[in-house]
Amino acid sequence: MRHPLVMGNWKLNGSTLMVNELILALRKELSGVTGCGVAIAPPAIYLDQAKHALAGSRIDLGAQNVDVNLSGAFTGEASADMLKDVGAKYIIIGHSERRTYHSESDEFIAKKFSVLKDAGLIPVLCIGESEAENEAGETKSVCARQLDAVLNTLGAAAFENAVIAYEPIWAIGTGKSATPAQAQAVHKFIREHIAKQDAEVAKQVIIQYGGSVNAANAAELFTQPDIDGALVGGASLKADAFAVIVKAA
Ligand code: 13P
Repeated sequence: MRHPLVMGNWKLNGSTLMVNELILALRKELSGVTGCGVAIAPPAIYLDQAKHALAGSRIDLGAQNVDVNLSGAFTGEASADMLKDVGAKYIIIGHSERRTYHSESDEFIAKKFSVLKDAGLIPVLCIGESEAENEAGETKSVCARQLDAVLNTLGAAAFENAVIAYEPIWAIGTGKSATPAQAQAVHKFIREHIAKQDAEVAKQVIIQYGGSVNAANAAELFTQPDIDGALVGGASLKADAFAVIVKAA
Protein backbone atom coordinates (compact mmCIF):
# COMPACT_ATOMS: atom_id res chain seq x y z
CA MET A 1 0.00 0.00 0.00
CA ARG A 2 1.48 3.36 -1.07
CA HIS A 3 1.39 6.35 1.23
CA PRO A 4 1.31 9.78 -0.38
CA LEU A 5 4.25 12.11 0.18
CA VAL A 6 3.95 15.89 0.12
CA MET A 7 7.29 17.64 -0.10
CA GLY A 8 8.08 21.34 -0.15
CA ASN A 9 10.87 22.44 -2.48
CA TRP A 10 11.86 25.84 -1.13
CA LYS A 11 14.23 26.44 -4.06
CA LEU A 12 16.43 29.54 -3.55
CA ASN A 13 14.36 31.06 -0.76
CA GLY A 14 14.98 31.51 2.94
CA SER A 15 17.01 33.09 5.71
CA THR A 16 17.88 31.94 9.24
CA LEU A 17 14.84 33.85 10.51
CA MET A 18 12.49 32.46 7.87
CA VAL A 19 13.65 28.84 8.41
CA ASN A 20 12.79 29.00 12.11
CA GLU A 21 9.52 30.86 11.62
CA LEU A 22 8.22 28.70 8.77
CA ILE A 23 9.14 25.43 10.48
CA LEU A 24 7.54 26.58 13.73
CA ALA A 25 4.36 27.48 11.85
CA LEU A 26 4.38 24.15 9.97
CA ARG A 27 4.78 22.20 13.19
CA LYS A 28 1.68 23.93 14.57
CA GLU A 29 -0.38 23.52 11.39
CA LEU A 30 0.52 19.84 11.02
CA SER A 31 0.38 18.60 14.59
CA GLY A 32 -1.93 15.60 14.73
CA VAL A 33 -2.06 15.20 10.94
CA THR A 34 -1.27 11.59 9.98
CA GLY A 35 -1.50 9.25 7.02
CA CYS A 36 0.78 11.14 4.67
CA GLY A 37 4.53 11.62 4.47
CA VAL A 38 5.69 15.22 4.78
CA ALA A 39 9.09 16.70 3.98
CA ILE A 40 10.68 20.06 3.30
CA ALA A 41 13.78 20.78 1.24
CA PRO A 42 15.35 24.11 2.23
CA PRO A 43 18.54 25.43 0.58
CA ALA A 44 21.58 23.32 1.57
CA ILE A 45 23.05 26.04 3.75
CA TYR A 46 20.03 25.83 6.08
CA LEU A 47 19.79 22.02 6.32
CA ASP A 48 21.48 21.75 9.70
CA GLN A 49 19.40 24.57 11.15
CA ALA A 50 16.25 22.99 9.72
CA LYS A 51 17.14 19.59 11.20
CA HIS A 52 17.27 21.13 14.67
CA ALA A 53 14.06 23.09 14.11
CA LEU A 54 12.29 19.90 12.94
CA ALA A 55 13.53 17.71 15.82
CA GLY A 56 10.74 15.63 17.33
CA SER A 57 8.26 16.52 14.56
CA ARG A 58 6.93 14.19 11.87
CA ILE A 59 8.29 16.38 9.09
CA ASP A 60 11.27 14.87 7.27
CA LEU A 61 14.19 16.79 5.84
CA GLY A 62 15.04 16.88 2.15
CA ALA A 63 17.72 18.50 0.02
CA GLN A 64 17.53 20.04 -3.43
CA ASN A 65 20.67 18.63 -5.03
CA VAL A 66 23.68 16.36 -4.56
CA ASP A 67 27.08 16.12 -6.18
CA VAL A 68 28.10 12.89 -7.92
CA ASN A 69 31.51 12.93 -6.20
CA LEU A 70 32.01 11.54 -2.72
CA SER A 71 34.75 13.90 -1.49
CA GLY A 72 37.78 15.85 -2.64
CA ALA A 73 38.57 18.85 -4.81
CA PHE A 74 35.06 19.79 -5.94
CA THR A 75 34.59 23.39 -4.86
CA GLY A 76 31.09 24.41 -3.91
CA GLU A 77 29.51 20.96 -3.80
CA ALA A 78 27.79 18.80 -1.15
CA SER A 79 28.12 15.01 -1.18
CA ALA A 80 25.49 12.36 -0.44
CA ASP A 81 27.22 11.44 2.83
CA MET A 82 27.22 15.09 3.90
CA LEU A 83 23.49 15.40 3.21
CA LYS A 84 22.92 12.22 5.18
CA ASP A 85 25.14 13.51 7.98
CA VAL A 86 22.97 16.61 8.43
CA GLY A 87 19.79 14.52 8.49
CA ALA A 88 18.42 14.74 4.95
CA LYS A 89 16.33 11.75 3.86
CA TYR A 90 14.89 12.72 0.45
CA ILE A 91 17.10 14.30 -2.21
CA ILE A 92 15.60 16.03 -5.24
CA ILE A 93 17.47 15.28 -8.48
CA GLY A 94 16.70 16.01 -12.12
CA HIS A 95 14.67 19.12 -11.40
CA SER A 96 14.00 20.98 -14.64
CA GLU A 97 15.67 24.08 -13.19
CA ARG A 98 18.91 22.12 -12.80
CA ARG A 99 18.50 20.41 -16.17
CA THR A 100 18.07 23.86 -17.77
CA TYR A 101 20.36 26.22 -15.82
CA HIS A 102 23.11 23.69 -15.07
CA SER A 103 22.87 21.62 -18.27
CA GLU A 104 22.37 18.38 -16.34
CA SER A 105 21.91 15.42 -18.69
CA ASP A 106 19.79 12.30 -18.18
CA GLU A 107 23.01 10.28 -17.71
CA PHE A 108 24.41 12.69 -15.12
CA ILE A 109 21.14 12.57 -13.20
CA ALA A 110 21.19 8.75 -13.31
CA LYS A 111 24.66 8.91 -11.75
CA LYS A 112 23.26 11.10 -8.94
CA PHE A 113 20.48 8.54 -8.45
CA SER A 114 23.09 5.82 -8.08
CA VAL A 115 25.20 7.83 -5.62
CA LEU A 116 22.12 8.47 -3.45
CA LYS A 117 21.10 4.81 -3.41
CA ASP A 118 24.64 3.84 -2.39
CA ALA A 119 24.43 6.31 0.51
CA GLY A 120 21.05 4.95 1.65
CA LEU A 121 19.21 8.15 0.72
CA ILE A 122 15.90 8.40 -1.16
CA PRO A 123 16.11 10.03 -4.58
CA VAL A 124 13.18 12.17 -5.69
CA LEU A 125 13.64 11.95 -9.45
CA CYS A 126 11.96 14.82 -11.29
CA ILE A 127 10.89 14.25 -14.87
CA GLY A 128 8.64 16.16 -17.23
CA GLU A 129 8.27 17.75 -20.61
CA SER A 130 8.53 21.35 -21.81
CA GLU A 131 5.61 23.24 -23.29
CA ALA A 132 6.94 22.73 -26.83
CA GLU A 133 7.36 18.99 -26.23
CA ASN A 134 3.86 18.85 -24.78
CA GLU A 135 2.39 20.58 -27.81
CA ALA A 136 4.34 18.25 -30.11
CA GLY A 137 2.78 15.24 -28.38
CA GLU A 138 6.12 14.15 -26.93
CA THR A 139 5.16 14.03 -23.23
CA LYS A 140 5.34 10.26 -22.89
CA SER A 141 8.50 9.82 -24.94
CA VAL A 142 10.31 12.51 -22.91
CA CYS A 143 9.24 10.94 -19.60
CA ALA A 144 10.22 7.47 -20.85
CA ARG A 145 13.65 8.72 -21.93
CA GLN A 146 14.25 10.39 -18.56
CA LEU A 147 13.17 7.22 -16.70
CA ASP A 148 15.16 4.93 -18.98
CA ALA A 149 18.40 6.70 -18.06
CA VAL A 150 17.94 5.19 -14.57
CA LEU A 151 16.11 1.97 -15.55
CA ASN A 152 18.72 0.97 -18.13
CA THR A 153 21.69 1.53 -15.83
CA LEU A 154 20.37 0.56 -12.39
CA GLY A 155 17.30 -1.54 -13.20
CA ALA A 156 13.76 -1.24 -11.86
CA ALA A 157 14.88 -2.40 -8.40
CA ALA A 158 16.52 1.00 -7.93
CA PHE A 159 13.01 2.46 -7.66
CA GLU A 160 12.18 0.21 -4.70
CA ASN A 161 12.90 3.00 -2.25
CA ALA A 162 12.70 6.04 -4.49
CA VAL A 163 10.20 8.71 -5.45
CA ILE A 164 9.33 10.03 -8.90
CA ALA A 165 7.99 13.56 -9.32
CA TYR A 166 6.20 14.28 -12.59
CA GLU A 167 6.66 18.01 -13.11
CA PRO A 168 5.58 19.32 -16.50
CA ILE A 169 7.85 22.32 -17.06
CA TRP A 170 5.00 24.44 -18.40
CA ALA A 171 3.21 24.06 -15.06
CA ILE A 172 6.14 25.04 -12.81
CA GLY A 173 5.72 28.47 -11.26
CA THR A 174 3.17 29.46 -13.89
CA GLY A 175 -0.05 29.11 -11.90
CA LYS A 176 -1.17 26.77 -14.70
CA SER A 177 -1.31 23.29 -13.14
CA ALA A 178 -1.92 20.22 -15.24
CA THR A 179 -5.53 19.12 -14.89
CA PRO A 180 -6.10 16.06 -12.70
CA ALA A 181 -6.95 14.02 -15.81
CA GLN A 182 -3.85 15.22 -17.70
CA ALA A 183 -1.57 14.43 -14.77
CA GLN A 184 -3.23 11.07 -14.10
CA ALA A 185 -2.67 9.98 -17.71
CA VAL A 186 1.06 10.65 -17.43
CA HIS A 187 1.35 9.12 -13.94
CA LYS A 188 -0.36 5.97 -15.21
CA PHE A 189 2.04 5.86 -18.14
CA ILE A 190 5.04 6.23 -15.78
CA ARG A 191 3.81 3.39 -13.57
CA GLU A 192 3.15 1.16 -16.57
CA HIS A 193 6.57 1.97 -17.99
CA ILE A 194 8.24 0.73 -14.79
CA ALA A 195 5.84 -2.24 -14.60
CA LYS A 196 7.23 -3.50 -17.91
CA GLN A 197 10.40 -4.29 -15.92
CA ASP A 198 8.97 -4.97 -12.46
CA ALA A 199 5.25 -4.94 -11.63
CA GLU A 200 5.78 -5.02 -7.85
CA VAL A 201 8.14 -2.06 -7.83
CA ALA A 202 5.77 -0.13 -10.10
CA LYS A 203 2.89 -0.75 -7.75
CA GLN A 204 4.67 0.62 -4.70
CA VAL A 205 6.68 3.53 -6.15
CA ILE A 206 5.45 6.96 -5.06
CA ILE A 207 4.73 9.23 -8.05
CA GLN A 208 4.24 12.84 -6.98
CA TYR A 209 2.80 15.57 -9.15
CA GLY A 210 4.51 18.97 -9.21
CA GLY A 211 3.69 22.22 -10.97
CA SER A 212 1.55 25.00 -9.48
CA VAL A 213 0.02 22.79 -6.80
CA ASN A 214 -1.81 25.02 -4.34
CA ALA A 215 -4.38 24.91 -1.56
CA ALA A 216 -7.23 25.19 -4.08
CA ASN A 217 -6.27 22.48 -6.60
CA ALA A 218 -4.51 19.83 -4.46
CA ALA A 219 -7.54 17.84 -3.31
CA GLU A 220 -8.79 17.22 -6.84
CA LEU A 221 -5.33 16.17 -8.05
CA PHE A 222 -5.09 13.69 -5.17
CA THR A 223 -8.35 11.96 -6.10
CA GLN A 224 -6.51 10.42 -9.06
CA PRO A 225 -5.40 6.82 -8.46
CA ASP A 226 -1.79 7.24 -9.59
CA ILE A 227 -1.08 10.64 -8.00
CA ASP A 228 0.69 10.00 -4.69
CA GLY A 229 1.11 13.47 -3.22
CA ALA A 230 2.98 16.45 -4.56
CA LEU A 231 6.26 18.26 -4.89
CA VAL A 232 5.33 21.83 -4.05
CA GLY A 233 7.29 24.98 -4.87
CA GLY A 234 5.73 28.38 -4.22
CA ALA A 235 2.91 27.18 -1.97
CA SER A 236 5.40 25.41 0.32
CA LEU A 237 6.67 28.81 1.49
CA LYS A 238 3.34 29.53 3.21
CA ALA A 239 2.59 27.30 6.21
CA ASP A 240 -1.19 27.55 5.89
CA ALA A 241 -1.24 26.72 2.16
CA PHE A 242 1.24 23.86 2.56
CA ALA A 243 -0.79 22.44 5.45
CA VAL A 244 -3.96 22.45 3.34
CA ILE A 245 -2.11 20.48 0.65
CA VAL A 246 -0.78 17.96 3.20
CA LYS A 247 -4.25 17.49 4.69
CA ALA A 248 -5.72 16.99 1.21
CA ALA A 249 -3.31 14.10 0.64
P1 13P B 1 5.63 25.52 -8.13
O1 13P B 1 4.80 24.76 -7.13
O2 13P B 1 6.08 26.86 -7.63
O3 13P B 1 4.98 25.56 -9.48
O4 13P B 1 7.00 24.68 -8.31
C1 13P B 1 6.93 23.32 -8.54
C2 13P B 1 8.29 22.75 -8.45
O5 13P B 1 9.15 23.03 -9.27
C3 13P B 1 8.58 21.87 -7.30
O6 13P B 1 9.80 21.24 -7.45
